[in-house]
Amino acid sequence: MFIGHYAIAIGNASFTKEKGALTLIALSSALPDILMLSLNRVGVSLNFHADLGLLACVLIVMLCRALLRVSRKVFLLAILAMVLHLPLDLPYISHDSSNWYAHPAWDFTLEVSLLVLCGGFYLHRQRLSKPASMAFVTMCAGIVGLQAVWNFVVGF
Ligand SMILES: [Zn+2]
Repeated sequence: MFIGHYAIAIGNASFTKEKGALTLIALSSALPDILMLSLNRVGVSLNFHADLGLLACVLIVMLCRALLRVSRKVFLLAILAMVLHLPLDLPYISHDSSNWYAHPAWDFTLEVSLLVLCGGFYLHRQRLSKPASMAFVTMCAGIVGLQAVWNFVVGF
């Protein structure tokens, strides 16, 4: 899963209006993949989806919480987003045709649907100003563009 993780982060961030919340929650939702993809390239093969790797992710989120000075509620929403990351990756583990990346149109539809659902919930709950809503929708459109590149250009 790619942008679906950010969709879940946006859904979680719907429950707070605290400054810095979306940043921390979005980082937490994607951190296992960010670390796995970036550190594997330099020879670190730690599994960031379980055990010590996942603990390292939690510690990094705790550090970022301190830097961003967000509440305990936001920290817990961030950890929930990280926990929800794990089952959302399950359809992408196998190396055969049952992997959703083997079906880019299905994967694109699933992940974009999650973003539309969670983004709509965020807009409903946050009651943003018109310029802020437009900025949010533009950001979501950019995220959809990333998913399109992931599915149809990179070919994961
Ligand atoms: Zn993952």
